[in-house]
This record gives sequence, structure tokens and C-alpha cells, in this order.
Amino acid sequence: MKSLLSFLSEKRLISLITYGPFIFIPFIITMVSFFTLHVSKLQYEDSLDDMQTVYVEAQKNRVISKVDIAAKLLQYKESMTKEMLKEKVKNRVDTAYAIAKNLYQQNIDTHTRKEVQKIIIDSLRPLTWNDGESFIFIVDFNGVAHLSPSYLRHFEGRDILDLKDADKRYIIKEEIALAKEKGYGYLWDTFMREDHDSSKQYSQLAYIKKFDDFNWYLGSAEYLDTAMEEMQKHALDILQNMFLHQSEYFFVIDKYGNNIMNGQNLFPKNTNVLALKDVDGKELIKELIKSSNSIKPYFVSYKLRNPVTNKIEEKFSYVKKVEGSDWIVGSGFYYNEYNKKLEEKVLVLQEMYKKQYKTILTFSFFLIVLSLFASYYLSIALKKRFMLYSKEIRDKNNELMNLNASLEQIVLQRTEELNQAYEDMKEIAIKDSLTQVYNRYYFNDALLSEIHRSDRYNLTFSLCMFDLDHFKEVNDTYGHDVGDMVLKSIAEVVKKYLRKSDVFARVGGEEFMIIMPKTTIRTSSKIINRILIGVEEHIFEKIEHLTISAGLVTYKAKEDKDELIKRVDLALYNAKKNGRNTIVLGDD
Ligand code: GH3
Ligand code: MG
Ligand code: MG
Repeated sequence: MKSLLSFLSEKRLISLITYGPFIFIPFIITMVSFFTLHVSKLQYEDSLDDMQTVYVEAQKNRVISKVDIAAKLLQYKESMTKEMLKEKVKNRVDTAYAIAKNLYQQNIDTHTRKEVQKIIIDSLRPLTWNDGESFIFIVDFNGVAHLSPSYLRHFEGRDILDLKDADKRYIIKEEIALAKEKGYGYLWDTFMREDHDSSKQYSQLAYIKKFDDFNWYLGSAEYLDTAMEEMQKHALDILQNMFLHQSEYFFVIDKYGNNIMNGQNLFPKNTNVLALKDVDGKELIKELIKSSNSIKPYFVSYKLRNPVTNKIEEKFSYVKKVEGSDWIVGSGFYYNEYNKKLEEKVLVLQEMYKKQYKTILTFSFFLIVLSLFASYYLSIALKKRFMLYSKEIRDKNNELMNLNASLEQIVLQRTEELNQAYEDMKEIAIKDSLTQVYNRYYFNDALLSEIHRSDRYNLTFSLCMFDLDHFKEVNDTYGHDVGDMVLKSIAEVVKKYLRKSDVFARVGGEEFMIIMPKTTIRTSSKIINRILIGVEEHIFEKIEHLTISAGLVTYKAKEDKDELIKRVDLALYNAKKNGRNTIVLGDD
């Protein structure tokens, strides 16, 4: 506290008042501005993070909803295709049946049964579709083939009851049973195709109808994928429109890993991609199939070459099963693409942030300028006020100092007066009020001191005692007042002959003593003689003549005070006895 106070000397205080606001206010505003900028930056970073999360979520949701829609579309298309296929196959058989029936009725009366059968077979033989892939076949209830396609012509006339499809089903037996039981019906089976890899089997739909007249049944079949091809073309168009997004892709595989179709021709159609691995060796198709089987859908991430950028990039895929089929439809997006989009959004955000930053900066700048002005006026006002107070304090201080000085003066004066009074008192105490020479009390002390001094320094001194002659008469003649005046005058006269070191005292009514230090009887008797003459010659007021008688002794070493006084008293007595106006030496 003390150091703070000493630090804040007036000069420093003025500097502080003058420059303090200049420094502190802009400083505080700058700090606040920095703080605001910092907060805005944090907010910006927060929203950046938020945006990333929200954006990636939105991206995922978009893909999920698209895949959901695509799955539904494919489900619908597939079921529609199957329905149409059914219709188509049935129509063919129904048409063939109508032709056969017609030919039978027209010819049965004029031809043998065998001939009619031949007419019918020959008429139906040209009925083929899809470049001969689909045709009408005729089998009798014994399992003998009567009409077969050209590539299976050798079947005709033969018992094909034991014919099995790829799934080892006795399909002829099943067809005969269906024809006998219901008269017509559908059958799904799996077959190899003409001119195709014999190892591959294709799903096909057959429709058969009983021809009662010859215990035959007529049938036709069509491969599903043929029907599907058209549907897929259509679906592909729709899906491509749906997944227009730049690097967005879609694909349809079946649960065995067969590539059904894909938007970017990632791999050739009808190839099995089950073993496909990404650049890190991840078996992504297997992963995707696994994901499609899980209850909770999730995104599979892997790295592949993006055909748009031709770079290896990370992609996220989401898959979904197509209900009622083996298909799995999927889509996803490249991280890079998402990043690009995000970058655009980040740029917008950055622009906003920059704008905000500039606004804060400009605002702060104006605030600082404003504060500088305000500080300037504030410091002036403060300084003025401070100087005013400071002056007031100084004035008061001066006043106090003056007061103090005068008080000191007064005290000094009083002390002096007291000292004087004391001195006076001392004087009064040791002096005779009438003659102003020492009194008896002081004389006794002085005599003792002189005795001691003489003893100590082996000195001597003279002691004189004198008494006015016939003083009673003066009193009687002129009155007591005149007597007092005479006493005063005598003292004055005697003083003139004495040294400073001599002690002159009135020891009785009109009796005086003189101590004369360091004097022998010779010198002291000379002085007393002169005094006697001086008194005798002095002209007093009112009275004509006055003398004094004196006894004079010198101190003898180790002499008692009373003895000394006694001796001088005796000398005086002798002087009176000797006729007065004389001096008697009391030394032996
Ligand atoms: P002597 O020559 O023998 O000394 O005669 P004297 O008349 O002086 O006799 P003494 O010394 O015995 O007288 C003392 C007288 O001095 C008595 C008194 O009237 C007078 N006296 C003593 N003190 C005072 C005083 O203070 N004032 C006045 N006016 N007279 C005093
Ligand atoms: Mg006397
Ligand atoms: Mg006398």
C-alpha cells in the first residue's frame, strides 16, 4: 500500500490521468474486439463442423432415400415384367391352341388323326419369338415330343419323360401332371440356352395347356432375362435420371454377386463380381451383400477408381434388397465429390465469416477512434479536476503550515515568556525587592559556594558587612519612605565600585554583605574604603549626609561559615564602636 502510494506521486498521477484513459480505454476495446473476433471464429469453426456433419448426414440420407425408391421401382418393375411375361407366354400358347383347335375341327372329318396331327404340327412350327429363342412345343401324355425347336429337332418322336432341368427336376413329368390335373398352368424352370455357354443356366417361365383331342399339351416358354432386358433398359433410364448427380452411381447385383446393371458401367454386365476387391484388398461386394442382409442398414466404405476423376477415391455405398427378388440395389457417393460440394458451402460460410470479421474490425476501429476522442476529453476533464483538487490541497496545506508556524511562534513566545517569568521568579526569589541586590537567602548559598570553591582551589576571598550609620534618625526625621529611598540609593552607589564576580546582598533591614572572590584584604579594603568615601560624598535627595560603617575579613582555609560571619559581624561592631564611617579589618 505504501509502495503504491509512493509510486503514485502527484507527477505520476497526472501522467496516469493524462495518458491512462488513452491507453486503457482503447486497450480494453481492443481486447473486447479480439475476444469478439475469437468468439466469432469459434462459432465459424463450430458451424463448419456442424456443416460437415449435417452435410454428410444429408448426403447419406439422400442416398438412402434414393436407394429405397430404386429398390421399390425395381421391385415393381420386376413384378410387372414377370406379370407381363406370364401374360405373353399364355397368349402365345392360347393362340397356338386356338389355331390347333381350328385346324383339328376343319380337318378331322376329311383326314386321318395322324394327318391332322401333322397339319397342326407343321402350322405351329413357324411360331417362334425372340430369334427362335421362344417357340411352341407339343408333348403327349406319354412324354413323347411332337414339336420341338429346330435345335432340339432330334427330340421329336422320342420319349423325353426323363428330361431334367438344371435343378434336376423332371420338368416333362411335372408338365404332364399339371396338364392332366388342371388342364393348364405355369412352371418356372432353369435351362441352358442355345448358342450360350452350356455351364450357365437361365430361369424361364413355361405355360402349358392340355389339347384333349390327342392327349397332348401345348406349351411355350420364355427366358426371364430376355424379358427383363427390356425392363432393365427402362429401369436404367429411370435410375440414371434419378442418380444424375455427377459422380453418384448405382448398381444392381443379385445375391450371388452377379452384376445385373450399373450406372457407370463399372464392370461388364452379367459378370460375377463377388470376388471384386478394392485397392486395399477389401472384398467390397461381399461386404455390400452382408450389409443388405443386416437389419440395420449401414454404409460400406471402400476405395476405388472414380471414373469421373480417374483417381482412386474413397466412396460410401448403401445397399438394399429388392423385395421378392434376389436383387440388391445400391448407390453411394465419392468422398471427394462430397468434399467438393462441401468446399463450396465452406466458401460461402467463409465469405460470411470474412464479412462478419470485417464488420467487427470496422466497428472496433470506429469504437477505438471514438474512445480516443472520449478519452482525450475525459483526461482533460480529469486533469482539470485533479489540478483543482491538487491546488486546493496545496492551499490548505500552506494554510496549515502557516498556522503551524504561527502556532510554533506562539509556543516559542509563550516559552520565552515562561522562561522570563521563571527567570523573574528566580530573580524575585533571590533578590531583595527594594534595592534589587541579592537577598539573605541567596547570600547564604553564595557564601557556602564561595567557601567550597576557595577550599577546592586553595583560594581566599573577602567578606564585607556594612551598616548605615544612624539610620534610625533618617527614618525618624524624614519618614520611612525616604529611608527606603536612601537604602536604594546606597545600593546603587555601592554597586558602582563592585566587580561582576562580587556578590552584593542585603542581609538585614539596613545591613549589607559583599563577597569578593579571589581578593586579599589589601585589595578588598581598598574597594571598601572607596565605597565608604563614595557613600559619604554621594548627594542624597532630601538628606544632607550619610555614612556607613564596615567590617572586613578574609576567609581562612577550612573556616566555618558561621565563624566567618561572626568575625565580620564583630569587625562591623568594632567599626561602629570606633566612631562609625570607618572600616575595621577582622583578621587577626
Ligand atoms: P547605628 O549607627 O548604631 O547603626 O545607629 P542606628 O540608628 O542606625 O541604629 P540601628 O542600626 O540599630 O538601627 C536600625 C534602624 O534602621 C531601625 C530602623 O528604624 C531602621 N530600619 C531598618 N530597616 C529599615 C527599612 O527597611 N527601612 C527604613 N526606612 N528603615 C529601616
Ligand atoms: Mg543596624
Ligand atoms: Mg545602623
